[in-house]
Amino acid sequence: MPISIPTYDDVVRASERIAGVAHRTPVATSRTADKQTGASLVFKCENFQRVGAFKFRGAYNALAALGEHQKGRGAVAFSSGNHAQAVALAGQLLSVPTVIIMPQDAPAIKVAATRGYGGEVVLYDRYTEDREDIARRIARERDLALIPPFDHPDIIAGQGTATKELIEEVGALDLLIVPLGGGGLLAGSVLAAKALSPRCRVIGVEPAAGDDGARSFRAGKIVTIDVPETLADGAQTTALGEITFSIIRDLVDDVVTVPDKALVEAMRFFAERMKIVVEPTGCLGAAAAFSGVVPVDGQRVGIILSGGNVDLPIFARLVTPA
Ligand SMILES: *Cc1c(COP(=O)(O)O)cnc(C)c1O
Repeated sequence: MPISIPTYDDVVRASERIAGVAHRTPVATSRTADKQTGASLVFKCENFQRVGAFKFRGAYNALAALGEHQKGRGAVAFSSGNHAQAVALAGQLLSVPTVIIMPQDAPAIKVAATRGYGGEVVLYDRYTEDREDIARRIARERDLALIPPFDHPDIIAGQGTATKELIEEVGALDLLIVPLGGGGLLAGSVLAAKALSPRCRVIGVEPAAGDDGARSFRAGKIVTIDVPETLADGAQTTALGEITFSIIRDLVDDVVTVPDKALVEAMRFFAERMKIVVEPTGCLGAAAAFSGVVPVDGQRVGIILSGGNVDLPIFARLVTPA
C-alpha cells in the first residue's frame, strides 16, 4: 500500500477540527535569552497545552477524523508518555472509547492520569512483550482504530497546527527549531512553516544519545538504533517513521543533536528566568539555540517548547545546582 503523505491543507483542516478544544498556547519571549543569543526568540509554549504537551493536537485530530462506525468502536494507542494521555483525553471529549497499552513499570501517576481521562489501560511487560504486536492484536480482535504516536497523516497534520498558530501570531521567521523524536512534530511543523513563511529554515533537534534522525537525514534512508539512554524520554524513539522521514528528508533543512547537559541548563533557564516548567524533551530546540549548536545570531527564531510533563522530584533534582 502506498503511504499517504499529508500536506499543509491537512494542517489547515486539523486546525479547524481542534479549534475551541485544544488551547491556542501562548507565545513567550525573554530579553535575557535574546541578549545572550543575539537573536529575537519566540517560544511556542506547548507545555501549557492540554495534557501538558502538543500531543493533544494530533491525537484529537486523528480521533475526530475517524468515521462514525470507527468512533463507535473505539481506538487503541501504545505509549508510556504524553501520547497515551492525549489519546485518552481526546477519546473522552469525542466519546470514543480508548484502550492504551502501557508498560507495567510506567510511573503510577501516568497510569492513573490515563485512567482518569477514561482510557482503558492494558499493561504489558516491556522486557518480554512487544507493544506494537499487542496493540495490533487488540485492534484486530476488538475492531479498534490503531492510533500510532507519530507515523500517521492525521497525527502529523495535528502537530503542525502549533507552528501554524505561531507564525500567524508573530509573522515570518528566519528559523524554526523543533524537538525531534519519531518526527510527527517536526514533519507537521515543516509543512506549516514552509507554507506560511517560505524562507524559514527548519531544524530538528535530537538528544545526542539518540541520533537516529540525524543519521537518517544524512544517509537518505531510515537508520534504526537501540533505545537511547537520555533524559529526553519523549525522544527515546529508535527510528523515524516512513511518512515522517519522507517529509523530513524532502523539506527539513538540518537535523542536529544536543547533549543532556544542555537540556538541564535550558530547563534551569526556563524555571529561573521565565518561571515555566519545561520537560527535558521540550528543551531540545531551546538547548540547541542557547548552546550555539544552531547559530541564531541576528535572526528571528521560533522555538517549540513541546511539553512540560516531568515528575516533580526529578525536576527538583535537575534544576538544583550541583
Ligand atoms: C512526543 C514528544 C516529542 C517528540 O515528538 P515526535 O512527534 O515523536 O517527534 C517532543 N517533545 C515532547 C514533550 C513529546 O511528548
